[in-house]
Amino acid sequence: MRAIRVETIGGPEVMKVVDIPIPTPGPGQLLVRTDAIGINYIDTYFRRGLYPRALPYVPGDEGSGVIEQVGADVTEFAPGHRVAWAAAPGSYAEHVLVDAPSAIAVPDGVPADQAASALLQGMTAHYLIESTYPAQRGDTVLVHAGAGGVGLLLTQMAVAKGVNVITTVSTDAKAERSSHAGAAHVVRYDEDIAARVREITDGEGVDAVYDGVGADTFEASLASLRIRGTLALFGAASGPVPPMDPQRLNGAGSLFLTRPTLAHHIRDRAELEWRAGDVFAAMSSGALSVEIGARYALADAATAHTDLESRRTTGSIVLVP
Ligand code: NDP
Repeated sequence: MRAIRVETIGGPEVMKVVDIPIPTPGPGQLLVRTDAIGINYIDTYFRRGLYPRALPYVPGDEGSGVIEQVGADVTEFAPGHRVAWAAAPGSYAEHVLVDAPSAIAVPDGVPADQAASALLQGMTAHYLIESTYPAQRGDTVLVHAGAGGVGLLLTQMAVAKGVNVITTVSTDAKAERSSHAGAAHVVRYDEDIAARVREITDGEGVDAVYDGVGADTFEASLASLRIRGTLALFGAASGPVPPMDPQRLNGAGSLFLTRPTLAHHIRDRAELEWRAGDVFAAMSSGALSVEIGARYALADAATAHTDLESRRTTGSIVLVP
């Protein structure tokens, strides 16, 4: 089968197309023929060495496809079933081994590319808005990178709960996408973000900031919060945030700062099924729309990473084998 392999850390060019054997499912595993593969910002952190990973490796954790074989002890899935997953290392390939407890059945009517890109970003948006700072009707929150994969989904989920959403974006086209997803106010990074937020909230500040941008937005995020507001720092698209003195949280208004990750929010099958079930149910009912900003051939994975890291993409992006 064809797969992408990273043999050394570096830029997008380190991702090579290789021919490797189709793996055999062990006990509790599914062998899936991939229909589409979700590309996530974290894939670029591993490739660049920001997060360590043993070399060589096949990137990607997310996708959707059709089960071809099941290993011993698999009872809940069978060949022919459509599944999606967000935690199967080696997903940039024509076939992937998925642990059955990580697989989610794809509802009829959900297209393969949306199924392949909805779970990781959608469950992230879900835990941020339901668990990290469970926003309530009437709250106002700030979502950075509002036209990105997580950003568009988080905005829609927040708006559906009756939350007022302010977003940041870099271009007019992204502003239009973010407004379409329901953002009431869209701020550009070259504006004074915190000053704009104070203006919009009559000086109060927002209840929560969901910040996946990191280094470039962190200070504005702290300065945008109301007293006792929550900063959920969930990513570092612009680079990691430098160390800070916790005393600053006191001075800025008894703030809450957390650095959450998806794995800690899908700790068992029940929690995974809750979040994935909510995401797929909302997609099936039309309440949540997953925007596929771009599709790339598997062999063009390097181009996809280049586009993602140079901020050229909107919404979710996928590889199609
Ligand atoms: P996005 O589609 O949001 O792409 C990243 C976006 O970040 C860009 O489109 C860009 O939007 C914005 N951005 C701002 N500054 C920069 C910069 N200097 N370089 C590149 N991009 C920049 O990606 P994802 O939806 O996949 O992920 C969003 C964030 O969420 C990432 O930080 C990711 O690591 C994090 N994440 C965290 C998870 C967790 O559980 N902790 C799980 C999933 C994702 P614009 O042009 O509008 O600024």
